[in-house]
Amino acid sequence: MPFQWPSAYASAVDPPEKPPERSLWFVFRGGELLVSAIPAPAAIPHCNNPKDLGMMPLRTQYLGVLGTEHCFSAEAAAEVQPPQGWSWQGLRGLFGTLDDAQFALAGRAVQIVEWDRTHQYCGACGEVTVARTSERSRECPRCRLVVYPRLAPAVMGLVRRERSLLLARSPRFPEGMYSALAGFVEPGETLEQCLEREIYEETGIQVRNARYFASQPWPFPNSLMIAFFADYVAGEIRADGVEIVDAQWFGVEDLPRLPAKISVARRLIDAAIGEMLVA
Ligand SMILES: [Zn+2]
Repeated sequence: MPFQWPSAYASAVDPPEKPPERSLWFVFRGGELLVSAIPAPAAIPHCNNPKDLGMMPLRTQYLGVLGTEHCFSAEAAAEVQPPQGWSWQGLRGLFGTLDDAQFALAGRAVQIVEWDRTHQYCGACGEVTVARTSERSRECPRCRLVVYPRLAPAVMGLVRRERSLLLARSPRFPEGMYSALAGFVEPGETLEQCLEREIYEETGIQVRNARYFASQPWPFPNSLMIAFFADYVAGEIRADGVEIVDAQWFGVEDLPRLPAKISVARRLIDAAIGEMLVA
């Protein structure tokens, strides 16, 4: 699954005492990663410190070890130009271009960088926070509030009705693309309840029989997607017009443009199509 924690990766927060001669550096400017500017395959800096490239990161974080390489992330200021021979690239566009394990770790790194950037001060009392060395968290020395990297669980549901699938368009989607429905889990809600509520709110369709398919870390910006199949119970489609501009039942032989293979949405839809074609 794209963005899943690589098997050769061991997380850690405390860097080696002596900085390694060469480490992998995930340097971000906002959501963009610093990669070699020459054509594919893209590469990230493999050096002692981004200072070697003439960069002065605002903050750095130790990520642990990938294979035999120590890994760090770094945050560049908003207006910083890339060094000669390097470029800033959006993470999505690097899928299939960057090494898979490094791509996955980049998805983790961008979330650590963003969390670190936005938790320099205590949310309760405003004091400057301090990074803890025992785990990935920051603590307020005054009121002792501890904050951890934040994840927003989101449920995705693909509804099946005989040989048709319920697919919908968000206004943010590329032209003509439809996907499974999704929404964020509310406090106090089970995943199954979230699935039923989101699908009903967005399309007016009632579903049941949620069946787990797979999950995917989704760093845009900090979701964990949890994907299910579900069965149609009742209702006529009425798109809510806000989160969903159109929803339709699509027959398996008559599908619209689907999401790219980077997402669990596409795997969920492909799996349903596969089942229907053999049935
Ligand atoms: Zn505080």
